[in-house]
Amino acid sequence: SPKGTIYKSPYPDVHIPKTSVFTHVFASRGPGDVGGFPGATKAFVDAVSGAYLTRAQLRDLALSFGHGLRTHPATKPLARRGDTVLICSPNSLAWPVVLFGSVAAGLRCTTANSAYTSRELAHQYTDSQAKLLITTEDGIRTVREMFAELGVAKGEGDKRIIVVGRDLRWAGGPTIPSSADAAGLLTMEDLLKGGKMESEEKFDGKLSNETSYLCYSSGTTGKPKGVETTHLNVIGLLSIISPHFPPRKAQDVMISILPFYHIYALTQVLHLPFLLGLPVIVQPRFEPTKFCANIERYKVTIGLIVPPILVVLARHPAAEKYNLSTLRYLCSGAAPLGKNLVHQVKQRLRKVGAICDISQGYGLTETSPTTHLLSVEDSERKMGSIGSLLPNLEARLVDDDDGNVDAEEGSPGELWIRGPTVMKGYLNNPTATTNSITPDGWFKTGDVAIKDKEGHYYIVDRRKELIKYKGFQVPPAELEAILLTHPDIADSAVIGVDDAVEATELPRAYVVHAYPEKIQTAAAEALFAQSVVKWMETQVAKHKFLRGGVGVIDEIPKSAAGKILRRELRELAKQEATTV
Ligand code: AMP
Repeated sequence: SPKGTIYKSPYPDVHIPKTSVFTHVFASRGPGDVGGFPGATKAFVDAVSGAYLTRAQLRDLALSFGHGLRTHPATKPLARRGDTVLICSPNSLAWPVVLFGSVAAGLRCTTANSAYTSRELAHQYTDSQAKLLITTEDGIRTVREMFAELGVAKGEGDKRIIVVGRDLRWAGGPTIPSSADAAGLLTMEDLLKGGKMESEEKFDGKLSNETSYLCYSSGTTGKPKGVETTHLNVIGLLSIISPHFPPRKAQDVMISILPFYHIYALTQVLHLPFLLGLPVIVQPRFEPTKFCANIERYKVTIGLIVPPILVVLARHPAAEKYNLSTLRYLCSGAAPLGKNLVHQVKQRLRKVGAICDISQGYGLTETSPTTHLLSVEDSERKMGSIGSLLPNLEARLVDDDDGNVDAEEGSPGELWIRGPTVMKGYLNNPTATTNSITPDGWFKTGDVAIKDKEGHYYIVDRRKELIKYKGFQVPPAELEAILLTHPDIADSAVIGVDDAVEATELPRAYVVHAYPEKIQTAAAEALFAQSVVKWMETQVAKHKFLRGGVGVIDEIPKSAAGKILRRELRELAKQEATTV
């Protein structure tokens, strides 16, 4: 049939309430209860200072921040229901406050990597049509540069900034004086002062199809696009995944170093643990020794991670120096996870007395994100698999572009997904939306998967151009466009090459020199290639650096239609690697 074979989840469907995200997370089920657990219990803990927010404090601070946004004369006209606010900050205790406060006020939140350059930030700020921008003191300079590049006068730009200071007095933490940069700018604390919303803005029933979050993803091709994640998508994800999370134990504590701006942490660190009653230790950025020290200090039992963190647990000396014996569940996502690495970590953790299950999930920003999760019971037997399809979802494995041909049983095919967690579409980009979602609701992941007889899936390849460096998206099209602005580069293509040691891909560029006569010798060519690597470091955020190097070639291989033949370049990179 043209519709093909549809695979169902092995789990029964779950009920997905049509309500607002804020209501779903914070609704009280009785006196003193916030979202199903006592309001006085810890929700988020600042790993550095130990300052923390209880569940009730977080709800109240969010309602105060929402009230401030809606009523403060500086923000009132820019924070109407449905307006967009951009959050650009490293992980911090303030993050859930500004996020849930914005959601309570009925705003959409677009979340950006705090390491972005002003140019990268400008793309997201403009594309998302954000009206306000929340940043930290360290971020002010980049935000001001961004406004300057966009031609916005300084005074006007400043009116759109809300600063989250270093000071943690509002959370019972240490007093830290603010920098001169922040002088005169509106702060989160200013907005917390005026009172509290009596109740959040509601997005119930049909309104749950309104957008709540706009994370940016390049999808199968091109530049980053705003992914419209609705209230229903978020609640759908939380509903389908929570029964498959290991049952909570009283002493459970989660640590997270995944960046909150990415949909993985946004849903599964900022929302899911709260629903499950798990306190979360917030470490601002990943640093191996601090990560291990925090596991010991806070007796962490659960961690959501990416494969390179397992490399640390497998090899870094800090993993033996600190007591990691409390760890009982680690779940990896956002990039492929190899079997060997899992074995190594398990062995090493066993030596220090930790009996820790290591599982993996799979998903995309466009599917809110997780569609597959390997259960704890299967984690040993099916190591390397992304597990089974979560409830309420359907999948297809397709062997052509249009979905007319199924992949043969047991053979690889492009994974298509249908269900309540598939995004509404790409913001203001109907072409990209129709290219990725079929009229009958199938989302084309661009990943190639195999399904075994027991319904476990394995990701075996990627059809789309996307590169992932340590779980971070690196859109080749973006780097290619930047390379073309280099005066000595006539053409370019960027691909990912595998680095087994670091358990990640590395972006590698192939370029055509505009004046080949300048690089006649091998030494001149190598020097030029090196200079391009360095030059790129002045153009983009760290995770997009050309860590896989630069190769100089005579011509970029292209199809008759002008499409870069990336497979050929990947082959070339493999040959180069074996001849070195
Ligand atoms: P993002 O939208 O940033 O979450 O990136 C989604 C992409 O990351 C997917 O399309 C996959 O290519 C890749 N990915 C995510 N999880 C996994 C996994 N467990 N194994 C292999 N690739 C993954």
